Amino acid sequence: MSSDSSVSRRTLLAGGVAAVGTSVLGAESSAATAFDEAPWIDAHSHIWTPDTSRFKLQPGMTVEDLAPKSFTADELMAIARPAGVGRVVLIQHTLFHGYDTSYLTDAWQRHPELFRVVGMVDDLRPNAGRAMRQLLQQGVTGFRIVPRTGITDWLQTDGMTEMWKTAAETGQSICCLINPVNLPEVSAACGRHPDTPVVIDHFGRVGIDGQIRDGDVNQLCALSKHTNVRIKISAYYALGNKQPPHHELIPMIRRLYEAFGADRLMWASDCPYQLDGNNNYAASIALIRDAIDFVTDEERRKLLRTTAEKTFFFDA
Ligand SMILES: [Zn+2]
Repeated sequence: MSSDSSVSRRTLLAGGVAAVGTSVLGAESSAATAFDEAPWIDAHSHIWTPDTSRFKLQPGMTVEDLAPKSFTADELMAIARPAGVGRVVLIQHTLFHGYDTSYLTDAWQRHPELFRVVGMVDDLRPNAGRAMRQLLQQGVTGFRIVPRTGITDWLQTDGMTEMWKTAAETGQSICCLINPVNLPEVSAACGRHPDTPVVIDHFGRVGIDGQIRDGDVNQLCALSKHTNVRIKISAYYALGNKQPPHHELIPMIRRLYEAFGADRLMWASDCPYQLDGNNNYAASIALIRDAIDFVTDEERRKLLRTTAEKTFFFDA
């Protein structure tokens, strides 16, 4: 397909969303060339819908709490595709949906070629491993874990141990939303479960208070001794200066590249949060696509596609 026709087709698709609000995805999913036009993978975005009668919010939440009010799969792809992003890993968001992953797995069922899901299971309930295997049949190739307050050694509950062991067998990744203070305990868990695929979200949130400390970066880099650990270089709106062009993050990205290599780093936006204030999607992908100068073209492709593809885009 010529570049002219791709542009006009993309414009048409984007216009379709704005004009009638119908699915941009249905038209695109039948096109064999879709991944050539939009080759990159966003390894982390959330979506939600104001249709709370079909997809219930967790107790205490109402449609008024949704901010933005709507960020559906269609709205996400209308922003992502012009940036060359054709596939996205959808991440469970407990704030609105608790442990209920049904809105994300519904998106996967409608468009399994475009999406994979990082879900959540409650490790304090029985049969966490069985739940993980069932969700694998619905496109869930990773599970988010977060430190639980009030639980001594949250990484060593029976359910959490079952999750890490199950993930080692299924290939689903344990995805850690943590702060720098949690890096030592996560490293210890990686040592106990060397065969478990692990992904650290958002640089381990190094720089979340505005300060990118060498000690924190060193601890993050030290995780590279565990060969199944990968890092999401993502959520720029939340780290360092928290403003485009995000270039203050480049030295940390370079350190991680030297420690992990491009095979173990993946870019992600963390939408819709990257779409707030001065932050935007274009500035997020531009940091990796255009600004860093220490990678080869092939390595840049790994950061923007291949690492996430190998980590998340597999079938049950
Ligand atoms: Zn997120």
